[in-house]
Amino acid sequence: MDIILLGPPGAGKGTQAGRLEDEHGMIQLSTGDMLRAAVKAGTEVGLKAKALMEAGELVPDEVVSGIIGERLDELGPEQGVIFDGYPRTAAQATALDEILSARGRSLDHVIELVVDEDALVARITGRFTCGKCGEGYHDTFKQPAKEGICDVCGSSEFKRRPDDTEETVRTRMQEYRGKTAPILPIYETRGIVRKVDGMGSMAQVNDEIEAALAL
Ligand SMILES: [Zn+2]
Repeated sequence: MDIILLGPPGAGKGTQAGRLEDEHGMIQLSTGDMLRAAVKAGTEVGLKAKALMEAGELVPDEVVSGIIGERLDELGPEQGVIFDGYPRTAAQATALDEILSARGRSLDHVIELVVDEDALVARITGRFTCGKCGEGYHDTFKQPAKEGICDVCGSSEFKRRPDDTEETVRTRMQEYRGKTAPILPIYETRGIVRKVDGMGSMAQVNDEIEAALAL
């Protein structure tokens, strides 16, 4: 089974991809990771990509396609994969079809984690962690039992990620919409887009994804 997993930053995509790997033995393929691995391994396309990146140039689609093809050949025909962050353009979607069909594969599902943007902003901007033990808290959903004191280790030092601000979250959402807008309609026409409510609990999202994969 080959799928694309779509979801804005903060929607729990990483968690869900990890679970699909654990429970279905799938492998998540992110083009960034594959590119770095190919460069490190010194494969033919890896060397090409390295030269381009060192020259400060963008790695063209054909090189990315080559890297995805190499990786799929390594994994073998039975290994199901999760594409993450790719494709982002209609041209890449067409290239992906070709890469897959050349190997007797095809996309089974495009799972889209649908979120309520305002609720997601509240979820992300409210997060904070204990600076000492790393325990996670939230302004709305999980305050320490005693204000300003970590439940776990008693520390009174808390920290927030500097990019968890409303402005950066909204910018990331906008970037995400820009990346999915060109490709979603392509897969919608094919009837393989499965919309999953990304605002439920982790277990609910799990269940919805499982139901979608069974289609
Ligand atoms: Zn703590």
